[in-house]
Amino acid sequence: MNKEEPTKSPVIEISQLSQFFRQGQTRLEILKNVSLKIRAGEMVGLVGPSGSGKSTLLHLAGLLERPSGGKIVYMGQDCELMTDNQRTKLRLNEIGFIYQFHHLLPEFSARDNVIMPQLIAGLPKIEAANRANQLLNMVGLSERGDHKPSQLSGGEKQRVAIVRSIANVPQLVLADEPTGNLDPLTSAQVFEQLRRVIKGGKLSALIATHNHQLAEQLDRSFKIEGGSLVEL
Ligand code: ADP
Ligand code: MG
Repeated sequence: MNKEEPTKSPVIEISQLSQFFRQGQTRLEILKNVSLKIRAGEMVGLVGPSGSGKSTLLHLAGLLERPSGGKIVYMGQDCELMTDNQRTKLRLNEIGFIYQFHHLLPEFSARDNVIMPQLIAGLPKIEAANRANQLLNMVGLSERGDHKPSQLSGGEKQRVAIVRSIANVPQLVLADEPTGNLDPLTSAQVFEQLRRVIKGGKLSALIATHNHQLAEQLDRSFKIEGGSLVEL
């Protein structure tokens, strides 16, 4: 009889994923048979030059687009079989996004930006506000809750974006060059904060970055080369 193993099933399992774009007569093969498994608590880096397909892979993993081929399974559920509504719900509750340019709502305060996804997920306002305060505190922004994005520095905006991405306690955070727009020192600080937030919450993440030094701080890293994933 097999010894019983506490096998943690992967948070996301990407198998033989491909993405083609048609440009006139030519077919651009951006991703070819990409397979990747990310387990709970794991932080995975994605490097590669501009245009190599990092954002494409993150969009597919985030269920924002459907692939040309292959399969994505989230916590045992095959996403291909899901309706758009089911995908939207999964995205809202289980997937956090961080972009290169914060994507905060400019007319709302930092606190309200962190409250918003929680309200959409159905949390009562008071609970959402309490959690937003805790999260802002976690990244050293407890004094900045009332400030709008235009009143925050680039690094501060990204810190708000980081905690907003985990406001609904997702299983997976997808970050697309989250420090790509920051100076080297701020970039290193924000990256460290991102790492602490993800590890502290025992979440998993897939993080695209141009910066190999930052990627080295993660559990594993890959580059996309000629549409294929190569472990570094
Ligand atoms: P990266 O994030 O690594 O810079 P992207 O995933 O944004 O790369 O883009 C990879 C390639 O796919 C680029 O050549 C880009 O022009 C192309 N591409 C991305 N989205 C589309 C699309 N919707 N239609 C056509 N080409 C696209
Ligand atoms: Mg990109």
